[in-house]
Amino acid sequence: MDTKAFKRSLSSSQQYHRKGFGREAEITDLLQAEYQSNLVQQIRDHGYRLTRGDVTIRLAEAFGFCWGVERAIALAYETRKQFPSERIWITNEIIHNPSVNQNLKEMQVQFIPVHDDQKDFSVVECGDVVVLPAFGASVQEMQLLNEKGCVIMDTTCPWVSKVWNSVEKHKKGSYTSIIHGKYKHEETIATSSYADKYLVVLNLAEAEYVCSDILHGGDQQEFMAKFCSACSAGFDPDIDLERVGIANQTTMLKGETEQIGKLFERTLMRKYGPAVLNQHFLSFNTICDATQERQDAMFQLVAEQLDLMVVIGGFNSSNTTHLQEIAVERGIPSYHIDSSKRIGPGNRIEHKPLQRDLEVQENWLPARPIVVGITSGASTPDKVVADVVEKIFDLKAVSLAV
Ligand code: SF4
Repeated sequence: MDTKAFKRSLSSSQQYHRKGFGREAEITDLLQAEYQSNLVQQIRDHGYRLTRGDVTIRLAEAFGFCWGVERAIALAYETRKQFPSERIWITNEIIHNPSVNQNLKEMQVQFIPVHDDQKDFSVVECGDVVVLPAFGASVQEMQLLNEKGCVIMDTTCPWVSKVWNSVEKHKKGSYTSIIHGKYKHEETIATSSYADKYLVVLNLAEAEYVCSDILHGGDQQEFMAKFCSACSAGFDPDIDLERVGIANQTTMLKGETEQIGKLFERTLMRKYGPAVLNQHFLSFNTICDATQERQDAMFQLVAEQLDLMVVIGGFNSSNTTHLQEIAVERGIPSYHIDSSKRIGPGNRIEHKPLQRDLEVQENWLPARPIVVGITSGASTPDKVVADVVEKIFDLKAVSLAV
């Protein structure tokens, strides 16, 4: 499919919207009440530090909602105002945050049902309004919704669109897109839908495997077994790795994306020589500033003397999981939770360790003065962070009083 031509024609349609409807003033108070917090503002104003009793909270200096997420939520709220009686659907969680998604449900914004891992678009009818989330939707989904005669509100973050533009450039030059991401993640599914040939690599280890194949050849059966769900149809490692371009899921660890890009660059330079490198390797900077800032702030925070960390965000949020990885790598006891409801009753926490299911930890707050580092993913409202902070203060106050 000529994805560029399709997007161009969609953009000129009256049914397609990428900007608000001029109703910001009508939603500002509501957004403030639902997502902002005075306590968090107070902590920010005090150098990201607040002490009560024997607990000091140290907030990361960049955390929580990024502007892409704020924009997507505001557009969804404006859409409800603009279409008060129409049925409104969202193709996916607008962002990976349970409280935001719950608020949208309460505004009668419905999620496309999913059966056996497949979205069931049969529920959507002509004239319905469909919101595309911040991390985008595949070209095929957009095409389907357009053919059905839906009104489309596209909240895709411009940083994600920037990656898609890179992939279009790869395609134009017949380069295979190497996408650093999770092949099942909605953003990566959408990104790969713009590619002609693509291969998704999860991490440096997978990238090293692919680069070794480029340089030394390898067992092609093993290669395809490893990447069968993570590459384009008909992918042939012998042919499709001769010219590659780098793309990324915007929420991956910045350092790892850079390492992967450099690894492919070195590999193709070794194989073909520096004189013709441009014919075999293409790379654009598409790492999102917000992800980078949150990761940098996390590195700064974990360098301090902390007793423990609490990382707040949806369990399926990639950028939150990466923040948790940074704490774990530093050997700091770190608890990934999605809301304050995971804390208590009493001194217990239900949290999600990396790559494991939820676990309960008793006596997680030590009975002594402590410094608790706190950060949150790009899709977590300040209000959720404030609830967690309050709960920690309350718990420690109770334990002091006993
Ligand atoms: S994390 Fe970055 S790419 Fe994702 S929505 Fe926020 S600003 Fe956009």
